[in-house]
Amino acid sequence: MPEPMAGALVVGTEILTGRTVDTNTRLLIATLLERGIRLDRWVVVPDSRVAIGRELVRMIDDGLDIVIVSGGMGPTHDDITVESVAAALGREHATSLDSLARLKAKWVSRSAGAHMPPGATSGMEKMSMVVDGFTTIENPAGAVEGQVGTEGRTRIAILPGVPREYRAIMEDPAFLDLLPDSGGRTYEMDEMVFRGRESQIAQVLRTLQEEHPEVYIGSYPQGPMEVVIRVTGDRSSTPSVMAELRRRVANGP
Ligand code: ATP
Ligand code: MG
Repeated sequence: MPEPMAGALVVGTEILTGRTVDTNTRLLIATLLERGIRLDRWVVVPDSRVAIGRELVRMIDDGLDIVIVSGGMGPTHDDITVESVAAALGREHATSLDSLARLKAKWVSRSAGAHMPPGATSGMEKMSMVVDGFTTIENPAGAVEGQVGTEGRTRIAILPGVPREYRAIMEDPAFLDLLPDSGGRTYEMDEMVFRGRESQIAQVLRTLQEEHPEVYIGSYPQGPMEVVIRVTGDRSSTPSVMAELRRRVANGP
């Protein structure tokens, strides 16, 4: 079974200006790796229809199994993710009456019986917009619901950017069920520390990587005389390659 590939499409000018650090995608990666799905790319774009559409279409055209789009689902003028995804897929988007009803009910329960201010409805209608053919995932941590659908062979999820809402929807079975099946694969990462210079182990690492293309061997210098060597791969291969790595680093190639 081929290794499923994912793309993260993070929407937010505030991330590109360095105001917000993208912590959501780290969480996503952990979930993907546990399930044997590899993150092929992690793209951050501004709140721009053109940029969102261009990157989404590229990920679909490249045959990614799943694309996770996040951020820009709120009520304000700069929240354009849902309409941009719809436009890129050549689909309509419309207010989901079910989502709208849930949103209104949440509002009422949180505002202790206060009347909804005039104008609030248009924001709520916007936040309840769903791409044609997509289904919603309830958001227990906030207002805007997630939504999932498919285009060709690519599954697409759209999640709100607020971290606790992103997490809540990502943990929902409806999101986890969308993830492609990797046939039981699961990634493991293991590491060792080598006290010395990278140049002393470069040959060992190159040879071992050539012999084991099924894992990824990375070398990360931490200081002048300390290198972390990390092996990432399926749990069926990682431990044995790691053991061999330790032996060769101690004894030479
Ligand atoms: P809202 O309904 O609040 O507008 P949204 O889905 O439109 O939600 P954004 O407007 O993109 O999401 O961001 C909402 C909040 O979440 C902001 O404070 C933003 O900085 C934060 N945020 C967005 N994306 C990320 C991310 N990838 N990692 C961490 N924080 C994020
Ligand atoms: Mg927003």
